[in-house]
Amino acid sequence: MKPPRAFGPLPHRRYRPEFPTCPQCGGSLALSHPVWAKPIQYLTGTEHVTSLGFRCAAPACPAGGRTVYRSAQAEARQVKGSGYGLDVVVRIGHLRFTEHRTREEIWRAVRDDTPVRLSERHVQNLLEVYLAVLRASEQEVAPRVAATVKQHGGVIVSLDGLQPEQGNEQLWVVREVLSGTVLGAANLQQATAPHLARLLRPIQQAGVPVLGVVSDAQESIRLAVADVFPGVPHQLCQYHALREAAEPLWAADRALLVEAKKELRGLREVEERVRAHEPRTPADEVVLDTVLALRQTVRERGGLPFDFAGLRVQAALGALDDTLGRCLEKGGTPAWLGCGPSSSGRGSGAPCAPPRWRRPMSGW
Ligand SMILES: [Zn+2]
Repeated sequence: MKPPRAFGPLPHRRYRPEFPTCPQCGGSLALSHPVWAKPIQYLTGTEHVTSLGFRCAAPACPAGGRTVYRSAQAEARQVKGSGYGLDVVVRIGHLRFTEHRTREEIWRAVRDDTPVRLSERHVQNLLEVYLAVLRASEQEVAPRVAATVKQHGGVIVSLDGLQPEQGNEQLWVVREVLSGTVLGAANLQQATAPHLARLLRPIQQAGVPVLGVVSDAQESIRLAVADVFPGVPHQLCQYHALREAAEPLWAADRALLVEAKKELRGLREVEERVRAHEPRTPADEVVLDTVLALRQTVRERGGLPFDFAGLRVQAALGALDDTLGRCLEKGGTPAWLGCGPSSSGRGSGAPCAPPRWRRPMSGW
């Protein structure tokens, strides 16, 4: 894992438990301490993630304040002991076992298509993580949660599906949330209620007391949980619900970003033409700087549920357009040879030719 400072300033994300109250007594939960905190590289960019632990504050609670509740969502996105998100692991597993790419090809694909920085060696490590997650289903449940049951009187189960961008298979992972232990996993083509119930059943068969279940609001999960754990409190994850609600907006935003990138395709030609100038004028430098700025701008990435990169890019391009518009209105600067007011003594009086572009995203 890279040392945290190597990433520079990162967006911080703090997770709290999905249960708003104590699942054992209904008492209110109070912040206790961070369970873990680390920078995590996701396919969407790097974030500094903190999983906040909460305890029940009720004096009469059967858990006696010992149980530290944490976010199932934070667990579902991370890999224990790793600085990479589970989405990266799933992408790498997909490239290896569905697309049969070599380690080097995977490394290149991740490097070229995502902001994730990793070495070829890390690809190997993450493939091992992927296999370890899948093997979790082969192990017996009871011994792996014995310590948690002893300490807290039961387990909290979460269920979450992750889909690589390409491919139809989803990696479904069942976790024990209090300890972060992966209890089972499977690649499923279809996440129907009977398929999901099959993943949960070993926990029920092990006779482990289940204090609660955390998942998103997907109907197949609700049915599977009601089938396998009738009567157990089932907390729907707010983040998941928001993410699902934001999905259509998110798709529209992505389309906006693609459109922006398409509109800027002509940049390469402008850049090549200007780079060929000999000698280069100050105006050429302005053009090259602007090309760089435009290219950086459309590299923005968003995140579900409400981080819309397309809107941010649109705003940034608008600001850049205003700046350039103001420059052109002034008639350029005297340094732009061959243009600008003729009174400068150097310009031809012709309309200023350097930085010339179409108004970005004029069709919006
Ligand atoms: Zn309690």
